Amino acid sequence: MSLFAAVELAPRDPILGLNEQFNADPNPNKVNLGVGVYFDENGKLPLLKCVAEAERQMQEAAKPRGYLPIDGIAAYDKAVQGLVFGADHPVLAAGRVATVQAVGGTGGLKVGADFLQTLNPKAKVLISDPSWENHRALFTNAGFAVENYPYYDAEARGIKVQAMLDALSAAAAGTIVVLHACCHNPTGYDLTPAQWDAVVATVKARGLVPFLDMAYQGFGQGIKEDGAVVHQFLDAGLSFFVATSFSKSFSLYGERVGALSVVCENKDETARVLSQLKIAIRTNYSNPPTHGAQVVATVLTTPELRAQWEQELAGMRVRIREMRVALVEQLKAAGVTQDMSFVTRQQGMFSYSGLNQAQMQRLRSEFGVYGVDSGRICVAALNQHNIGGVARAMAAVMA
Ligand code: PLP
Repeated sequence: MSLFAAVELAPRDPILGLNEQFNADPNPNKVNLGVGVYFDENGKLPLLKCVAEAERQMQEAAKPRGYLPIDGIAAYDKAVQGLVFGADHPVLAAGRVATVQAVGGTGGLKVGADFLQTLNPKAKVLISDPSWENHRALFTNAGFAVENYPYYDAEARGIKVQAMLDALSAAAAGTIVVLHACCHNPTGYDLTPAQWDAVVATVKARGLVPFLDMAYQGFGQGIKEDGAVVHQFLDAGLSFFVATSFSKSFSLYGERVGALSVVCENKDETARVLSQLKIAIRTNYSNPPTHGAQVVATVLTTPELRAQWEQELAGMRVRIREMRVALVEQLKAAGVTQDMSFVTRQQGMFSYSGLNQAQMQRLRSEFGVYGVDSGRICVAALNQHNIGGVARAMAAVMA
């Protein structure tokens, strides 16, 4: 009997499965709105100029590739802290933040989850309903029981804020709450600062453990604005986790550049937490890769490159917003009578379009427009060339 005879076939990743289907579709007008990737106005994955220039500089001064420290490139970790907390924030001067380089935002979440598991293996993890597909699996695999808190309000096209707060109020002390810092994936609906205040107050009152997932800083309102929630948690005097991803904001998906920051109560605690994060890293993959983090560190610490990055990031952000406005207009022009203006109230790469599973399937089979069955479409994959066709296809399945 084979060693693997009893191994079950795991379900396919729904979004990667969609990609395979898309690639196999002979329709010349097909559009892929499934995967969470930003494409430029020509439908191309951008290589940012600041990244190309940093790589050129790095190549000119090419260095041997020794092992990095377990927590990564020191200049990178510092630059991440500056971006997430503000370079001159007293929490940094006080040495209260442990930051480690991680293998993408996913790696940051996993290192945090592994550390939390050693702290409190029986803690429950709450994720938004719905959430990024991998949240549940990642925290489940790390050993946690994962449940949802209410989030998306399909009828009101927004967030069930009160139900969310009620769920947090009912959670046991020590429960880990995963929160999307900005640009909620998949819905696109973000809490207002006042609503965040209520979340922070509830988390504090109940003794919950906030874990902010910040995969889209700079894709919503701006770098600072999208990070504002971090300051609300800081101001409340809480200890919390922040996972950072540069996959989208630097268009460095395949380089796997991310980080985990843990805000602690004092410097001594930070050193102890950092030592434990290093164990999580060491026992998973020993130490992180060099290239992507060096690119990001170079860009963030070289004033001209940083200015260029901020400009390029703003370009992506503005283009997405323009696509939201254009989609609403073109849906109207294509005969959709229903008010679709909610699309412009959403933020980031995604839109919960409100289309149901049957409509999403028709979009694929009849029009070659590939979105997720939940109704999620990637607005960042729309452009002037494909948006008219997408709007007409959506109008047809909504009629
Ligand atoms: N968290 C959220 C909410 C995401 O949407 C994503 C990527 O899609 C990630 C984390 C993972 O980012 P990375 O590709 O850097 O691992």
